Amino acid sequence: MARVALLAAGVDCIYFLFFLVVDSPWLAWINVLSVAMYAAAYRLAQRRKLRGGALLIWLEAFVHAVIGTLMTGWDSGFHYLLLMFIPSVILTNSRRQSLAFVVALLVFLGTLDFLSRSLGPLAPLSDSALIALKWLNISIFIAMFSSLSIYYRRKIFQAERSLHAQATQDALTDLYNRRHFQLVAEQERVRCLRTGSRACLLMMDIDFFKTINDTYGHETGDLVLISVARTLKQGARAMDTLARWGGEEFILLMPDVDAAEALVVAERFRQAVERTPIVFSSGEIFCTLSFGVTQLERGEPLGTAVGRADRALYRSKVDGKNRVSHE
Ligand code: GH3
Ligand code: MG
Ligand code: MG
Repeated sequence: MARVALLAAGVDCIYFLFFLVVDSPWLAWINVLSVAMYAAAYRLAQRRKLRGGALLIWLEAFVHAVIGTLMTGWDSGFHYLLLMFIPSVILTNSRRQSLAFVVALLVFLGTLDFLSRSLGPLAPLSDSALIALKWLNISIFIAMFSSLSIYYRRKIFQAERSLHAQATQDALTDLYNRRHFQLVAEQERVRCLRTGSRACLLMMDIDFFKTINDTYGHETGDLVLISVARTLKQGARAMDTLARWGGEEFILLMPDVDAAEALVVAERFRQAVERTPIVFSSGEIFCTLSFGVTQLERGEPLGTAVGRADRALYRSKVDGKNRVSHE
């Protein structure tokens, strides 16, 4: 908002210079009042008093458009500035309120047109100055309207990106979530079927995680999850798909890798996690991972391969944890 106030004050400086050039000094000085209002809005924005700041900005724009029209006539195009209210009102109010506003604006513009034509310009300008002012107002309107549109477009893109991240990523570890993994893995499974290439699944589960939570607290447990996720992410290739499968379980899909290669990768991950200290408020801890590895069979559903990796993981647990098993 501080930026908007500065920009609007800049625009009023342009009006100030314009009216000086066309020899209407006291119209020029009215704009100094506008700059003062924007300066006040800027101060309010800096003090985080956003409601007051916004009110002042909109009030100035409204009064400026009305006084400008009455002073210099409808043909000066000051009324264009009133149209700037439309997108902001529609985007921040209900449909009923927006409709009421648009109708009120239409009536207001009609009245202003009628008034300005019947009264005549209170501070008439020469024909050439009037044409120049009209095009100055049209240019300012287009520039402001474009800036507003760019601002709202950026907001929409930000919201889209944030929604996409929320739908596909796990909030704690930033890895893909289970739903997105299943989507990507299914596409990969179909690709493997078509090209005849291989792929492997790694199912991983942190050992004694409940004990970590119970001993060091849930927050440290979260740190462990984040740290393990980071270690796995660093070790995975760009073409692999890594996700948080559940509480302290992770899953990795590795395209173009056979079981023997996947076992090597899993062992590398196991050692990396085992070696990586997790620093928390009162020291550092180490944790380990158990692995279940399987190769996707041609044509089988993804769920079947996941079940096999899960069984292999269970064997790693039964055999003493912190190890890699294959099925
Ligand atoms: P095992 O070695 O056999 O894998 O046992 P475990 O203790 O690791 O596994 P168990 O299934 O007994 O416990 C998992 C715990 O993980 C229980 C649950 O409260 C915890 N957990 C699940 N999600 C989260 C999370 O997001 N943050 C934290 N801190 N803990 C979680
Ligand atoms: Mg566990
Ligand atoms: Mg588990």
